[in-house]
Amino acid sequence: MIKFLDLQKINLKYQEEIENVLIQTFRSGWYLLGEKTKSFENNLANYIGSKYAIGVANGLDALRLIFRAYIELGIMKPGDEVIVPANTYIASILALSDNGLVPILVEPDINTYNIDISKIEEKITVKTRAVLIVHLQGKIVFSEELKNIAQKYNLKIIEDNAQAIGAQWNDIKSGNLGDASGFSFYPGKNLGALGDAGAITTNDKELEKTIRALANYGSDKKYVNIYKGLNSRLDEIQAAVLDVKLKYIDHENEMRQQIAKQFINGITNPKIILPRYPDNKKEHVWHLFVIRSEERNRLQNYLAENNIQTLIHYPIPPHKQEAYKEWNTLSYPISEKIHEQVLSLPISSVMSEDEIENIINRLNLYQ
Ligand SMILES: *Cc1c(COP(=O)(O)O)cnc(C)c1O
Repeated sequence: MIKFLDLQKINLKYQEEIENVLIQTFRSGWYLLGEKTKSFENNLANYIGSKYAIGVANGLDALRLIFRAYIELGIMKPGDEVIVPANTYIASILALSDNGLVPILVEPDINTYNIDISKIEEKITVKTRAVLIVHLQGKIVFSEELKNIAQKYNLKIIEDNAQAIGAQWNDIKSGNLGDASGFSFYPGKNLGALGDAGAITTNDKELEKTIRALANYGSDKKYVNIYKGLNSRLDEIQAAVLDVKLKYIDHENEMRQQIAKQFINGITNPKIILPRYPDNKKEHVWHLFVIRSEERNRLQNYLAENNIQTLIHYPIPPHKQEAYKEWNTLSYPISEKIHEQVLSLPISSVMSEDEIENIINRLNLYQ
């Protein structure tokens, strides 16, 4: 069977280095807020090109902490609005509602699956404070137009960079395009830990200080609490593993770009809508390779019968979730169509040529 993602195989590529740092960290007796975390934060900031990186417990916390910090700094307040793509993963939206901010859903572009920047301005009100862009599937969403809108209305641009570490817009890496960015190192992400982990990058010193305190019980000095904070820290073991894997992220992403190109050149079945390969290949790190089909469930069953595992990202749009009952009657037709038709093919750095060919052939034989 071709697995959707063979995490064991991916991590075993770096077995020796990872096992060494695991043992080293175990034996060090220091498990939180130590040298490993500091090192990973420095290396991540260097890689992204940002002044600061802060390790936190997971990607959702990274986003929650960014908005919570803006609230503590008086830049946002509960009831303010934040623009967010209607088809994002639920975590982007949870980070807003958790802070009492109001998510304003904007339809995606059907060709890129990312927020349609041309539809943002019409949703701006006096309460809008930020645009939360999500580089979905690993594809950059950014433009001069977006920058101009943010400037004109004095909005923060926050990136949900959970899926696009290593992607670039011109010479700027995702995570350094806006005012602050949240990362997830969930095991299945392009840079994955051995459990939960996340980070925030920013160039804003005040924001960095506030987030660090908030993530540590609201404390800037031991036993002195300036905020009603939370506990959201990256632990030393995860930081050590991530520090090893960060060195190879460009290589991992290049392998994904190569497979994406093979899929796009090889799959010729008119029943399958392929994603676009960007003119500048650095704009996409292919966290997911998402195709669309009118009879998605039938296609998924067909591939399963042929021992090819696929997943759906995501089967239910946020506005149709029970958690957001208040939105259930709203209509976002592009987003709904995407959720009905998308299917994610296996893509990763450990797929063999045979597996890639097999997937292409099976898809071309599908009737
Ligand atoms: C994975 C993901 C998150 C959440 O990250 P966790 O580490 O699982 O909390 C947020 N947004 C997007 C777009 C994601 O893909």
